[in-house]
Amino acid sequence: MPKVGAHVSAAVSLETSFEKAKNIGAQCTQIFISPPRKWGFTEHGKEEILRYKDIKSKTGIRPNFIHGTYLINLGTPNPEHLEKSIEWLKYALSYADKLGIEGVIFHLGSHKGVGYHQILPQVTEALKKILNETSSHMSSGNVDGGPLLILETTAGAGNVIGDKFSEMGEILKQVQDDRLKVCMDTQHAFAAGYDLKTAEGIDKTLEEFDKEIGLSNLAAIHANDSKTELNSHIDRHANIGEGFIGIDGFKNLINHPKLKDISFILEVPGFSGNGPDEENVKILNSLKD
Ligand SMILES: [Zn+2]
Repeated sequence: MPKVGAHVSAAVSLETSFEKAKNIGAQCTQIFISPPRKWGFTEHGKEEILRYKDIKSKTGIRPNFIHGTYLINLGTPNPEHLEKSIEWLKYALSYADKLGIEGVIFHLGSHKGVGYHQILPQVTEALKKILNETSSHMSSGNVDGGPLLILETTAGAGNVIGDKFSEMGEILKQVQDDRLKVCMDTQHAFAAGYDLKTAEGIDKTLEEFDKEIGLSNLAAIHANDSKTELNSHIDRHANIGEGFIGIDGFKNLINHPKLKDISFILEVPGFSGNGPDEENVKILNSLKD
């Protein structure tokens, strides 16, 4: 059965994320390691890293992921912005390695009207650079083979890259690196036109994912219901059961045989508006057969 986890705050000190996870019953986590709407390169000292690893092994909460800052854009026309995006992802991967975190999940960004095929070489070159420059010096052994770099599927608003599985698949094929994976956000996929409401829709969506990207490259699922309808191209997360994917959709997803080893990570608004909560975790867990 898939684990159910959540995005939790690590704002005070990284290891406090496990306390928050335990409080809401999360079995796996996702955290920010620097303020998400800034170019933060927050330094985390040796003591903090040791505390994080210690509590991680005591609680057994895993896998754990870092979510990238929202400013990253590998499709930007601005060379400085591109350089900063690459540096930030290298920074995050090096912390993932030190902390024994399985991977860094991020949004590729927007091509700003240039077009997906025109921007593709820039994006794949940037990804190759990040992966190449973070493999050789990573020898902590905390994560087998080094932490993963994980592209998140998007809702496809405006010129955002990565709403179609075929686009993601093409990027993976061109980069050719085992550390490059994909996270499917259920809300984004639904808004991008992949029907996750019905059993047939889910089968079809996973078949297409497998054909274009490969299910072996699915590193995690962001489990979010959708405030907007199928194919809306609008990124608006809802609590599980309060959106257009609905309880039946999540029941089919969490029991799908192809997803039994995948972690489901909540990024929902929460029933009291404070982010992923115990109630959302309980609802998802209660849907397991
Ligand atoms: Zn997400």
